[in-house]
Amino acid sequence: MDRAIVLTYHNIGRAPRGARLPGLYVSPAVFHLQMRYLKAAGFTIVALAEIVNFINGNSSVKRPVALTFDDGFADFSDNAWPVLKSLGFPVTVFIVTQRVGGENLWDCEYLNVRKRLLDWDSIVRLKDEGVSFASHTMTHPSLSSLTGQPLHEEIFGSKAALEERLNAPVDYFCYPYGDFNQETVESVQSAGFKAAFTTRKGAVFQGTDPFEINRISVKSTTGPLAFAYKLHLYNGSSRRQNK
Ligand SMILES: [Zn+2]
Repeated sequence: MDRAIVLTYHNIGRAPRGARLPGLYVSPAVFHLQMRYLKAAGFTIVALAEIVNFINGNSSVKRPVALTFDDGFADFSDNAWPVLKSLGFPVTVFIVTQRVGGENLWDCEYLNVRKRLLDWDSIVRLKDEGVSFASHTMTHPSLSSLTGQPLHEEIFGSKAALEERLNAPVDYFCYPYGDFNQETVESVQSAGFKAAFTTRKGAVFQGTDPFEINRISVKSTTGPLAFAYKLHLYNGSSRRQNK
């Protein structure tokens, strides 16, 4: 297989009334079906380390798919993890470290909804149960608007906070809003991350830049056929989608 897929989820639950971008919510029933589909269709659900192995040409996994959850919402614990745990699927949740235990202050006004975020106790419990956590900065800024020390703090600070709480290395980073520039990438590299994930849509190929990894977002508007289509389009067609 010549490509891998990284899926992006945000909320597993029902969108509150009046919420902008209700597409960010996938219902628990649909999520369950999607996960069972991945298993039935013969995809191998892998951890992010295996995606990096794949990029480096060191993976023999058949049809690799990685699952990522952005922002660390509390509904991950309630609605996603029980399903993933029962299927034995690895998963990575990108955490906004200074907002842990709080709410989505970075976009609650725009979205017209306040969403509860995982607290540290839950994060540590989930880590012990097998969930991987990774960095999504300290406060979820647009990183290309920052430079120098404030940029450095968002990136290095989030890594340090997670590593202290989890007592384990944190190797992966996700750019808030998919926004980055060359200084961002250099800062992420110098902080010691091994790879970073974007919101750019597409598959992952051998030789993909590990600090600009494409993903495919799953939304409430992604019906079962569209879900299957996305996976097979990006995981099986001859069309290259690496930039
Ligand atoms: Zn985010």
